[in-house]
Amino acid sequence: MKKKDFDVIIVGAGPAGIAAAYKLSSAGVKVIVIERGAFPGAKNVMGGIFYRKAMEDLIPDFEKTAPLERHIIEQKMWLLSEDSALGGGLRSEKFNKEPYNCYSVFRAKFDKWFAQKAIEAGALIINETVVKEPIVEDGKVVGVKTDRPDGDLYADVVIAADGINSLLTKALGLRESITPEKVALTVKEVIGLPEKVVNDRFGVMNKHEGVTIELTGPFFEGMTTMGFIYTNKTSVSIGLGAIVEDLVEHKANINDMLEKLKAHPAVKPLIHGGETKEYMAHMIPEGGYFAIPKLYMSGFMVCGDAAMLVNAVHREGSNLAIESGKLAADTYLEAKKSGDFSAKKLSTYQKKMKNSFVMKDLKMYRHLPKMMEDKRQLLTKYPQFAIDAAYDIYNINGIPKIDKIKAIKKRVAKLGYIRMAKDAFDMWRKIR
Ligand SMILES: Cc1cc2nc3c(=O)[nH]c(=O)nc-3n(C[C@H](O)[C@H](O)[C@H](O)COP(=O)(O)OP(=O)(O)OC[C@H]3O[C@@H](n4cnc5c(N)ncnc54)[C@H](O)[C@@H]3O)c2cc1C
Repeated sequence: MKKKDFDVIIVGAGPAGIAAAYKLSSAGVKVIVIERGAFPGAKNVMGGIFYRKAMEDLIPDFEKTAPLERHIIEQKMWLLSEDSALGGGLRSEKFNKEPYNCYSVFRAKFDKWFAQKAIEAGALIINETVVKEPIVEDGKVVGVKTDRPDGDLYADVVIAADGINSLLTKALGLRESITPEKVALTVKEVIGLPEKVVNDRFGVMNKHEGVTIELTGPFFEGMTTMGFIYTNKTSVSIGLGAIVEDLVEHKANINDMLEKLKAHPAVKPLIHGGETKEYMAHMIPEGGYFAIPKLYMSGFMVCGDAAMLVNAVHREGSNLAIESGKLAADTYLEAKKSGDFSAKKLSTYQKKMKNSFVMKDLKMYRHLPKMMEDKRQLLTKYPQFAIDAAYDIYNINGIPKIDKIKAIKKRVAKLGYIRMAKDAFDMWRKIR
């Protein structure tokens, strides 16, 4: 290997890469982060709800200076049909007290701030530079080739935090190209509204309190789709993501789906009169636990979306990215003591991840992507049944409740008692 330029090269300045960079530089490690965007966050998209815990462990007082929008005091879920929304959720004053559970954020601002923290800790961040491939010698990753003239860089360890399309993990044979059933195409629009309008429409008292609404149900025509509406200080983020395979099969266009969602009778009043400020599209890895590659090899570790670490059920990704970045940094710091960066030594990263909430959560939901593919009734017939039943109960039309219950029971029978019981049992058995 040529003389090393840095102790660690990190590819990608998203939450995973910056978390690793911050932790390593804080420990005196010589780190370079290579980012293809004009600045960290320039190309990054998120719904975006940001969870406190993973960040607090890294920068305990981050809330004092981080660009946060609203802390979330209410989280709702709506089942949508063409003309109805059946909802539930939790609003709690516990979420309205410090330390807050989560915040709405804009990634372009947040990532830039986070990167500045890493720079202050000693990391070097080079923007507008694309890593083209890893440099491998005798089976060990020793550096990366970039698109800059004389842009080869050498280090003890390369950390890939280069997001869903991770060129490095593919080049090293750790991952295949992502297939259409394992990825969601997502679009998001930021709609500007006066602060008071956001407060009034979402039922909060001031610009610091926020609400989230997740959306699913037969409105999305049987596609594995999740929509979202999140409040910012003076805007609302609205978007949705659908599995690419479903979009192809249904010949559906995600932009049209967003327009249709914005026109839904329960959604339209929330964004009415607003002005579109931003429109973004991005991919989310949704293959789950079985899509996660081996996380290390000699001189190499992989974090965040590059390692497919997204928990779609709970809308978590940025916190999984940060946690994995921190654990990769810890692994490097341990390996540095012996100067041994072999695959055997770095395998402790995989063990750390296995014991973390990241892998435990993803393992718990490991059968979910397949189950959603096989049991479309979970997204269509069952929620439609629930919406219709709620309508019957709420609709006071002179029909005695006992007759309504009988009619609902008949509809359950039509759906199939045994099939419903089997689906419920399957879900219970597979999500534990
Ligand atoms: C629409 C949408 C909504 C989401 N909502 C949420 C949410 O509400 N909450 C949540 O926690 N998560 C959410 N997620 C998921 C979350 O955004 C990701 O899990 C998280 O950003 C992963 O962080 P990362 O650092 O691994 O990757 P990224 O944030 O994707 O960062 C990767 C970085 O690497 C850079 N890069 C890539 N290739 C190269 C290269 N070859 N050379 C140099 N640089 C490179 C990119 O420019 C980028 O800056 C959402 C995702 C989307 C798309």
